[in-house]
Amino acid sequence: MLTVMKFGGTSVGSPESLKSVAEIIVSTEGQKVVVVSAMSGVTNFLVEAADSDKIDCKQVIETFSRKHLAVAEALFDGEQMKAFLEEFDARIVSFEKTLRGDRKDPFYKDAVTSSGERFSSLILSHVLKSMGQKSVALTSAAAGIHSDGVPLNGFADLKRTDADINMKVRPILEQGAIPIITGFYGMNDLGKPLTFGRGGSDYSGAVVANALTADELQIWTDVDGFMSADPRIVPDTIRIDEMNYGEAAELAYFGAKVLHPRTIEPARQRHIPVRVKNTFKPENPGTLIHHLRGPKNGLLMSVAAKTDLSIITISSAEIAYRPAMVARIIEKIAEKNVIIYSISTSLSTVAFLLHNNDVQHTLNQLNSLADTDIEKINVKSDVALVCCVGDDLLDKCGVSGDIFGAVKEVGTNVEMISEGASDSSLNFVVPMETVVSTVRALHAKFVRGKNGRL
Ligand code: ADP
Ligand code: ASP
Ligand code: MG
Repeated sequence: MLTVMKFGGTSVGSPESLKSVAEIIVSTEGQKVVVVSAMSGVTNFLVEAADSDKIDCKQVIETFSRKHLAVAEALFDGEQMKAFLEEFDARIVSFEKTLRGDRKDPFYKDAVTSSGERFSSLILSHVLKSMGQKSVALTSAAAGIHSDGVPLNGFADLKRTDADINMKVRPILEQGAIPIITGFYGMNDLGKPLTFGRGGSDYSGAVVANALTADELQIWTDVDGFMSADPRIVPDTIRIDEMNYGEAAELAYFGAKVLHPRTIEPARQRHIPVRVKNTFKPENPGTLIHHLRGPKNGLLMSVAAKTDLSIITISSAEIAYRPAMVARIIEKIAEKNVIIYSISTSLSTVAFLLHNNDVQHTLNQLNSLADTDIEKINVKSDVALVCCVGDDLLDKCGVSGDIFGAVKEVGTNVEMISEGASDSSLNFVVPMETVVSTVRALHAKFVRGKNGRL
């Protein structure tokens, strides 16, 4: 049995939680490979430093060192501390080099913001050693995680990672040691760290599980599992016992932050079950995500929302009869790697849903299509996409009517609808200011209320 266990920021965020994490690892049967996030707050701190025009490197290094040393001092003493400091000092030297590096390098921010994982992994590995376990802290480079893509938004090269991890990590496992690997990034073709986007350590966990064909991937976090909505928005959420890969992937893609949007695919590819568990309540069963699940009789399983989106509507006479033009528009948008969350067309308009941050370069791209007869481009910013996942949402007559009826009751105007594109979700766009009330209303009515039972 080989388990890949990923621990998030709060799970490794204090001496007490690091001890709990170590106990969870030790009490897990069989071989285990651990992937960690940075300690909570550390990545935000590094993002701020990397973004700042007037970066005070000395101050950043001091604050960063102090934060990690304070945790280490609470955990280690004597020889343990000495052994830890040897590795810590070497990593601080390389962090300083990274921070003082070339800010014009396109991958500078990736290198700086991924530094926290190099320290949380080191601390956790030493906690395990202090408990008499064999353990090795590995950076993504040392473990063989390869990435590809644009700065701050990479993805794993699964083929190269597979070959390399099996060469570098398997022998460590065979010696009975527990590898603790940095999450959040891989090494690109230039040999530079490339991050997987915020929250990317879940994806790292899945990439490592894929490469090692693990028996299970465990995502350890600060909530009881995959819940029926974001518990920060809805206070009375319910833990979902079981979901299939498609349901979890849709919800993660459309805003359920408990999993990085790309986590499911590497696990699904190799039929690896994913379990989402609470580090602070390890006895709790969590959520099992796998190929099949038993039927449920609830209408709505979970509702998520992706915020900060915009609708760009392009008007051109009878555009529906000119599919080549629609193709060219999409091609232009794709040149900038923009994710299109939804598309909707009419006779003379085509509308795209994308992130607020992608609007400007999309408009620039569309302007370069000036030879075409685009009549008008309209932008509606600050909308959110609500994603509803559940059984029978699409098959049962009247369900969408009920859902939109509930949305109407809270006075929300639905701006765009996508139904039927996926077999498990019903998505629609609402103004940002109504997203919280919409999610709460749907949850109250279809998850908690009697309307939730068919
Ligand atoms: P970690 O640091 O462990 O990766 P994250 O903060 O990235 O933790 O993700 C866990 C958080 O995701 C939860 O604390 C919760 O606020 C949020 N969340 C959003 N949607 C959901 C959901 N459907 N189920 C569970 N948690 C969710
Ligand atoms: N530390 C990274 C972040 O905060 C990655 C992660 O937590 O998954 O985004
Ligand atoms: Mg996370």
